[in-house]
Amino acid sequence: MVISVLVEINIDKVFDYNVPENLRESICLGKRVLVPFGKQTLEGFIINIKDESDYDLKDIIEVIDSEVILNKELLELGKEISKNNICNLTSVYQSMLPVGYKASNKRKVSIRTKNYIRLINDDVVEFISTSRSEKQKEIVSYLLKNKSSLTTKFDNASINALIKKGIIEKYSEEYYRLNDNNEVEDLVKLNPSQIEAYNQINNSDKDVILLNGITGSGKTEIYMHLIKDTIDKGKEAILLVPEISLTPQIINRFKKHFNKIAVLHSGLSQGEKYDEYRKILNKEVNIVIGARSAIFAPLNNLGIIIIDEEHSDSYKQDHNPRYNAIDVAILRGKTHNCKVILGSATPTIEDYARAKKGYYELVKLDKRAKDASLPLVNIVDMTKEVRKGNKIFSEELLLSIEDRLNKNEQVMLLLNKRGYSNYLMCSNCGEVTKCPNCDITLTYHKTSDMNRCHYCGYADNNKKVCSKCGGPLNNVGLGTEKVEEEINKLFPTAKVLRMDIDTTSNKGSHNKIIDKFMNHEADILVGTQMISKGLDFPLVTLVGVINADTILNLPDFRSSEKTYDLISQVSGRAGRSNLKGKVVIQTYNKDNYAIKLTSSNNYEDFYNEEIAIRKKLYYPPYSFIALIKVGGKDFNNTLKEANKIGDYLRSNIDKEIVLGPSVGSLSRINNIYYFEIIIKYRDKENIIKLLNDVRNITITNSKINVQFDINPNAF
Ligand code: ADP
Ligand code: ZN
Repeated sequence: MVISVLVEINIDKVFDYNVPENLRESICLGKRVLVPFGKQTLEGFIINIKDESDYDLKDIIEVIDSEVILNKELLELGKEISKNNICNLTSVYQSMLPVGYKASNKRKVSIRTKNYIRLINDDVVEFISTSRSEKQKEIVSYLLKNKSSLTTKFDNASINALIKKGIIEKYSEEYYRLNDNNEVEDLVKLNPSQIEAYNQINNSDKDVILLNGITGSGKTEIYMHLIKDTIDKGKEAILLVPEISLTPQIINRFKKHFNKIAVLHSGLSQGEKYDEYRKILNKEVNIVIGARSAIFAPLNNLGIIIIDEEHSDSYKQDHNPRYNAIDVAILRGKTHNCKVILGSATPTIEDYARAKKGYYELVKLDKRAKDASLPLVNIVDMTKEVRKGNKIFSEELLLSIEDRLNKNEQVMLLLNKRGYSNYLMCSNCGEVTKCPNCDITLTYHKTSDMNRCHYCGYADNNKKVCSKCGGPLNNVGLGTEKVEEEINKLFPTAKVLRMDIDTTSNKGSHNKIIDKFMNHEADILVGTQMISKGLDFPLVTLVGVINADTILNLPDFRSSEKTYDLISQVSGRAGRSNLKGKVVIQTYNKDNYAIKLTSSNNYEDFYNEEIAIRKKLYYPPYSFIALIKVGGKDFNNTLKEANKIGDYLRSNIDKEIVLGPSVGSLSRINNIYYFEIIIKYRDKENIIKLLNDVRNITITNSKINVQFDINPNAF
């Protein structure tokens, strides 16, 4: 027997190996094997099984997996993803598996087992009447009644004595680190608008449904009904949510109504992840809830795939392989002949356009499910406030905060910038403190008194003087740490919590903050976009956006869309119960449409403005975009190679637009120089083929590193 093995090296290479007699029985497509490779021993995936080969082959060393970890569907899907995203297949297969399965993973994750004892034979009357050991009799009587027991319940000596006498035996059973066998409750009855949406979804003949419902309109309840129907038919469901909304809040909501759920997210330990994955492989669950990579859950009989907050950029992986989970969902939907539901209050412009054109079914929900009315949105012009001397908080926001504190209600304040200030500037020479490895300013963090680079992780002790002239450094701009500090000064009796990457790096800290705020142990929650999604705090009646312009000013064609999304999402946190909500948005661009239109809560109005601009500038959905990043240590050589790629593309493309190479928005990261080439195109198939050619040509050039990003999140 001969197998073809995709070996774990940077370039996709498949090699044939011979399988020795004693290992043949355990050979299966999609298992991993250990093989000799030059002087090394490497892991690889079995991707083909043949009878024999004409060549003299080396033997494999070992079969790693006892069960198939990548089934046929995933093996094929991986090939498609690797082609569409111009990246190597091994990296795609690796992305499909949880960390515990990865070869590079040093810490071995193992199956947990518990040891039990049981009687070999029920006929023990004689033993009980004749034995003189009270302890042994106790064990035997217990086992007669309870069939089995954990070994830990009794002392070892007595257990061993009984085993020796041939009366009991030991056995072990696998158990999962996370386990809950809860009683489930019935789902709530859908209201008339939800029923209408639900029927439209069920009656649609389209493969993809876009459910555009405002925050709190009851989308999640509809998801649960659709999932229930799926399970009742004996099929399985995947629900994807953005990583940061995978809080106990949403998980508990599902666990209240379903009990065969596996949950996959980064808040779990490696062992927990491994176990959740094994529950799927062992067919013990029929629902998988997780972040991006849960789209690869090895379910064999998918009946529905739901992607909540479909506009979230977390569905696109920002490192290789740069796949988009929505594209993968649509591919899997086709294979399983099941519907894909995309849900959002603010869908991406591309997906909404597809729905309006009829490629997707468009389903709308315009009212909040509970009686709660939509919050009142006030846009505050900060240019005027600054003239009054209010640099951080407007009069209106301060008065509103005070009012909520007096009423014992809660407040959320959003600023999409962590740290204390944006950067440090010398008040003598104007020098801005930059990262030594990247062309980016360092951010000052007061809690740790450090300057940090948010790109490469560089950090140094705050020297407090300019490195160039020794002049005093000033903090410029505003981060969440500073907002927290100022709020504490202004409202000394209020309890304040802060949630951003810096306060949530420990396992469980994210949930602790949410629980505390939920239990009203704090009055004000300050945070980055982390606080904008999926949370439901009934006592929050005021949301303040400290600076709505943080994203708007980024050089990205999606900056308006992202600004509109973020403000709408965070506004949706206000007044979710019967208490009336209010939102105060502080901005220096009060007439910008993306900010102005958040106050009317009508996505369609924003869409109409934005789509016109996209059309004029030939941006998606009017074109697709491919970003090619050429990186290298030597500036001149990298530019030369980037130019070659640009020329090659231009000579092979007629109508499509090729821009660059140019220095990107971040020209140097971690001491690597980057040049960017952008293609705006319509002819998907040809461009993908051409880019795969470019990859094959450049991959052997060790001086440069070429990365491809199809429909990038930002550029
Ligand atoms: P979305 O996912 O659109 O933000 P949710 O499904 O979370 O909305 O619903 C918002 C709130 O309304 C939740 O507290 C939910 O329990 C409640 N809700 C939704 N639909 C119903 C219904 N049919 N009956 C009662 N409560 C509902
Ligand atoms: Zn850096």
